Amino acid sequence: MKYVSTRGNYQPVSAADAIRLGMVPTGGLFVPEKIPAFSKEELAKLVGKSYQDVAQQILAEFLTDYTMKELAEAVSLAYNEKSFGAQEIAPYVKLDEQSYVLELWHGPTAAFKDMALQLMPHLLVKAIEKVDLDKEVVILVATSGDTGKAALEGFKDVKGVRIIVFYPAGGVSKVQEEQMVTTTGTNTSVVAVEGNFDDCQSSVKEIFGDQEFKELLEQNDYQFSSANSINWGRLVPQIIYYFASYADLVADDQLELGEQINISVPTGNFGNILAAYYAYRMGLPVNKFICASNDNKVLTDFLKTGVYDSNRDFKKTISPSMDILISSNLERFLFELTDHDAAKIEKWYHDLEQNGKFKVGQAVQDKMQELFVGEYATEEETLTTIKQIYESKEYVVDTHTAVGIKAYQKYLSDYDDLTTTVIDSTASPYKFSQAVLEALQGELETEDEFEILNQLEELTGLEIHRGLKDLDRKEVRHDRGCQTGEIREQIKEILQLK
Ligand SMILES: *Cc1c(COP(=O)(O)O)cnc(C)c1O
Repeated sequence: MKYVSTRGNYQPVSAADAIRLGMVPTGGLFVPEKIPAFSKEELAKLVGKSYQDVAQQILAEFLTDYTMKELAEAVSLAYNEKSFGAQEIAPYVKLDEQSYVLELWHGPTAAFKDMALQLMPHLLVKAIEKVDLDKEVVILVATSGDTGKAALEGFKDVKGVRIIVFYPAGGVSKVQEEQMVTTTGTNTSVVAVEGNFDDCQSSVKEIFGDQEFKELLEQNDYQFSSANSINWGRLVPQIIYYFASYADLVADDQLELGEQINISVPTGNFGNILAAYYAYRMGLPVNKFICASNDNKVLTDFLKTGVYDSNRDFKKTISPSMDILISSNLERFLFELTDHDAAKIEKWYHDLEQNGKFKVGQAVQDKMQELFVGEYATEEETLTTIKQIYESKEYVVDTHTAVGIKAYQKYLSDYDDLTTTVIDSTASPYKFSQAVLEALQGELETEDEFEILNQLEELTGLEIHRGLKDLDRKEVRHDRGCQTGEIREQIKEILQLK
């Protein structure tokens, strides 16, 4: 299986190369040239299988240049009881007669990024081994919170890799900061940068493009790579849980084999919902995708009107991991919808760059609306949903999950659809505990984030996620700090470049 560029500007590459390169060097994203198909018989065979077995089977379809042994190894290193706290990797919870919440946050950092970032480092290391690079790989990450910790946990102690994470000092929550600076592992470094996230991110991007610095690294037997969310290696692991959860529902007699489901996904970069779409294209029976946004509802508007317009105010919300106005992975979706029309993609993304917006034609809009519904939840609706779900179901959800639930409720009131529905839960309620506690009990008496965790536990009886427990008592292992202009110096020091 080869991977082609959405902009038609690069030769087809192997899966290993797509993962090693991250994005197409000439601009654009790698997508599989052909989507593998699962028959109903093959789907039936997944029923009763472990998450690891399903994972291996899905990955084998896409990563054809990896051996079964390599995939089995990567899967067992990624998805195990030690990292996910239980044998079940992605359990579901029945919300009512027709809807189920798929909990994707049992990994080490309490958010769904772990589902991909626990596996991707192993795929990357094997990709690099395949081209026989004897250099150590340096992963640079600029983070506004969640991705940094998930990447640190995924890459820590992975052989042949060093990871350096930069975060804006004072720009992440106390819990997020503690999560990062207490990370163990002999190959991890964390640096607080004086500046905001954008400064942090553009400095790191600039270093990626710095030829001289690249040469200095090479002389020291290092090379850069990225764990960016547009890497195919982060998308393919997300296809797994859609098949695994479907098979679980069938095994538990909640669903008939072949029966269609709806999938509601709280969305930012369009990655998680795109993985669901790939599962559908492979043969997973899906009726409708509900694309759930917060107040930054650029995708809701796009699905309704066919106009993608990023010219609007950026809003800081209580579901911050979805505060995004440019949804990078949408490009892959449009490439699929147009049957790989790279010229169209090139034009639309040129328009986006020039004018901050583009419009797809009627045919694409129709195709999109056949399958996708866009709904959004306001801040107030998000809070009310958390309270309503807790009071009616005794179930605590985080702000992002609440957006997914609210969007589904809005869809139901418009369409009166009885199809069984899976709603993705993308974070533990403890990851965004301040907003959750506020939703449940009104104004808070404390601003201390650790105290809030305890209060939420006391109120709900739900145990604090192990990745967030006792953070204030863990040893601080990283105390580096620098100005934005000093990021290069920090890298030199950490890697002891000569
Ligand atoms: C990253 C993230 C999302 C958005 O996922 P996309 O793949 O970007 O759509 C939603 N919820 C949480 C908690 C996240 O961390």
